[in-house]
Amino acid sequence: MIPYGRQDISEADIQAVIDVLRSDWITQGPAIERFEESVRSYTGARHAVAVNSATSALHIACLALGLKSGDRLWTSPNTFVASANCALYCGATVDFVDIDPVTYNMSVSELSIKLERAEKEGKLPKIVVPVHFAGQSCDMQAIKGLGDRYGFHIIEDASHAIGGTYEGSPIGGCHYSDITIFSFHPVKIITTGEGGMALTNSAELFGKMQRLRTHGITRDAMQMSREPDGLWYYEQIDLGFNYRITDIQAALGFSQMMRLSEFVSRRTEIADRYNKQLRALPVVTPFQQGTARSAWHLYVILLNQPSRNRKDVFRLLRSKGIGVNVHYFPVHLQPYYRALRFSEGNFPRAEEYYKKAISLPMYPGLTNAEQEFVVSSLAEALQ
Ligand SMILES: *Cc1c(COP(=O)(O)O)cnc(C)c1O
Repeated sequence: MIPYGRQDISEADIQAVIDVLRSDWITQGPAIERFEESVRSYTGARHAVAVNSATSALHIACLALGLKSGDRLWTSPNTFVASANCALYCGATVDFVDIDPVTYNMSVSELSIKLERAEKEGKLPKIVVPVHFAGQSCDMQAIKGLGDRYGFHIIEDASHAIGGTYEGSPIGGCHYSDITIFSFHPVKIITTGEGGMALTNSAELFGKMQRLRTHGITRDAMQMSREPDGLWYYEQIDLGFNYRITDIQAALGFSQMMRLSEFVSRRTEIADRYNKQLRALPVVTPFQQGTARSAWHLYVILLNQPSRNRKDVFRLLRSKGIGVNVHYFPVHLQPYYRALRFSEGNFPRAEEYYKKAISLPMYPGLTNAEQEFVVSSLAEALQ
C-alpha cells in the first residue's frame, strides 16, 4: 500500500529518542526547550510553546486571546475539524468563510463581505483562523488588513505548513497574526508522534499559553498573589490543562527539524513531477501563488468530470494499493455542526471543491517509480 502521507524516520531520529530514554528526564526536561528553540529560531518568532497536539495548541491559543461564551470564531470549512472545535471548547460560536476556488484557502473577498455584514449586525468575530491549506499560505497581508479594520485577532492554523514561506519569510513568524500553530502528527511535515506548537511574538500571550499548558500553574513570584512559602511553592492562577509534550517526543521533533529543508525540497520535487506528469490528464493541479511557497503537505487534484466518477476513480486507485484520500469533507456538513445550525448550501465553493477533490500520495519517501505508478493508474482510472 502506498499511503497518502507518512512519516520519515531516520537512524538519527531513533538515536535521539533512545538518548532521551537513557537520560534523567523523559518529560519536562531539556529536550522540550531545545525543540521549542529550534522552531522559534527557524520561524523567527519570539516565543514558542510546545504541546501534545495542534488541537491543544489551538485551544490554548483561543483561551490566551480571551475567547469565551458569547464570542465568535471564524475559520475555513475546508479544514480538519480541530480548527473549528477549538472555539466550541471555549464556549464560543463558530462560523465559516467560504474558500477561494483557486487556492482552496479562505477567500479574502468572502471574508471582507461577511465582515461588512457582521459589523452592521454587531456580530463581528473575535478571532479568525486562516488555515494554510495543503501547506500554502493564505493571503495574510490582506487578512491582517481586515483584522486591523474590524478588530479581530488572528490565529494561523499552519498544521500543514511548517517549512513553507510567505513573502519570503518562513511561515510561523507571526508577521500578520497573533499566534501561529503547527501540528507534528505523523502525516504532517515533521513529526513527534503526536504534538503541536504555538508561536507568538507577544510575551503576554506566551506567558498565558505556557501556564495553560500546565494546569494554569505559575512558579514566577511576580505573578503570585502572596509571598512564596519557600522554593517548593507554586500557585494556580488560571484553569489550565495537562497539554505537555514529553522529552521523548521533543527529541524526535528536534531531530526532525534538522531535516525540515530536506523534507520540503523532496516534497516540492514530487509536486513538480506530478505537475508535469498530470498535464495531459483531465484534472486541475494545485495553483501556487507567487507570494507563497508551499510546504506541500498535500497534493490535491480536482477531477474535471461529473462528481459521480470520483467514487469510481477513488475505488480503482485504492484497489491498486494507492492510498488516495479526500481533504476535506466540509466541516459545516459534519453531523455535529449540522446539529448546531449549518446545512448544505451554506458554503457552496467548499462543497463544490469537496465533490471533485482527491489527495494523491505525497511524502518524502515516495519513490519516483511509485509516483509513476500513481500517475499511470490515475490515467487508467480516468479513461
Ligand atoms: C492535523 C490538523 C490539526 C490537528 O492536529 P493534531 O496535531 O492532530 O491535533 C488541526 N488543523 C489542521 C488543518 C490539521 O490538518
